[in-house]
Amino acid sequence: MASVEKASGVYDAIIVGGGPGGATAAYFLGEAGRRVLVLEKATLPRYKPCGGGLSPFVLRHFPFPFEPVIESTVSAISYAFRGRTVTVPVRGQDVCLVMRDRFDAHILAHARAEVRTGAAVRSVRELADRVIVEAQEGQAFTGRYLIGADGANSVVARGAGLHGGRIRAAAIEVEVPVPPPVLRRFAEMPLFVFGAIPMGYLWVFPKAAHLSVGIGALRPQPGQLQATLARVMRRYGIVLNGAPLHGHPIPIRSPGAPLASACTLLVGDAAGLADPLTGEGIRPAIISGRLAAQAILAGRPDRYAAMVRRSFGRSHALGRMLALLFYRHPRASFALGVRNPAATRAFVDLIAGRTGYPGLILRLLGTLPAHMAAQVFGSLRPA
Ligand SMILES: Cc1cc2nc3c(=O)[nH]c(=O)nc-3n(C[C@H](O)[C@H](O)[C@H](O)COP(=O)(O)OP(=O)(O)OC[C@H]3O[C@@H](n4cnc5c(N)ncnc54)[C@H](O)[C@@H]3O)c2cc1C
Repeated sequence: MASVEKASGVYDAIIVGGGPGGATAAYFLGEAGRRVLVLEKATLPRYKPCGGGLSPFVLRHFPFPFEPVIESTVSAISYAFRGRTVTVPVRGQDVCLVMRDRFDAHILAHARAEVRTGAAVRSVRELADRVIVEAQEGQAFTGRYLIGADGANSVVARGAGLHGGRIRAAAIEVEVPVPPPVLRRFAEMPLFVFGAIPMGYLWVFPKAAHLSVGIGALRPQPGQLQATLARVMRRYGIVLNGAPLHGHPIPIRSPGAPLASACTLLVGDAAGLADPLTGEGIRPAIISGRLAAQAILAGRPDRYAAMVRRSFGRSHALGRMLALLFYRHPRASFALGVRNPAATRAFVDLIAGRTGYPGLILRLLGTLPAHMAAQVFGSLRPA
């Protein structure tokens, strides 16, 4: 990672934001020999409110190892709904947990790009064949292409007129030190809690030496996230004890929301690509970062939106519909989906990127009769 001043001139690509979306785009453009500038407002490594749960499968996009930044792996996932808990085993390599400061910096450290930190972009101007990007200190940079990887409150999306068509979930995250017995209880076993907040869920993710806990929901009442988080975590022996709460939106795009203009491409949260059911956004940021680099390398930014649609856009649209059903009817969803082992296996395949929402829904529907029969016969069995 180079942070030195270079001769001014026109960059092949300017990337705003050094999270997973921006760092991935910088990596692939840099590897192809393009002159790339990354403008990142924070000093790196920076904290990002995030559970840091992802599937290592997406890391296969990169030829370098990620072991140094993987905090822990997952052997099972627990799902709770109003006092009932289902625990589903997970194959060794399917889900892992990272701390985002180290993870994001790790990708960016491999990028052959000029990186300027402490450089908050405040405006962008698109001309016919180039883009002018102005940073907070009045410095201006010119690029042939611009990638908006500046997250949920993207200045690039607004500046390029590409910010419409998104809903925003609100989320809070806390890094909590806990006594060893509590840490051991969650070791390798993240927990998701449904039914405690309308249109959302809570999570407990085990990191190497602490727990990352959080809550996210669509349109919560003021103070509802904080109060529900503290109350539900106490139930699991997790006391927040004044640990700092970090709030952050998760934007989710509607089908057809804009992704690119003539010279500007949006990736990750700036594009609203987080998963509509889970809010998982690291994988879509990495995939869209790579697709944006490929579209630029091919000289066809106009194809980027179609590339995203083919890769996961259609699945995303179906996921939006499923998310509405799931969160509006949590009791039925828990009984028919979460308690159905075939459906939870399909869900892990979804996180690992081995299937999309069409595959998940087919497996859910295909196994529903057998699952319902098992539930009925199970309830008839003498105690
Ligand atoms: C509480 C919470 C928990 C989550 N948990 C998970 C999870 O467990 N797993 C998962 O996959 N996803 C999770 N997500 C979603 C995930 O964090 C995001 O989808 C992901 O970070 C998107 O990556 P990105 O590169 O698009 O943006 P970001 O990671 O947000 O990176 C954007 C970067 O741009 C920089 N920036 C912003 N504005 C400017 C500017 N004007 N100029 C220059 N730089 C700028 C920021 O400093 C930042 O470094 C969670 C989100 C939240 C809020």
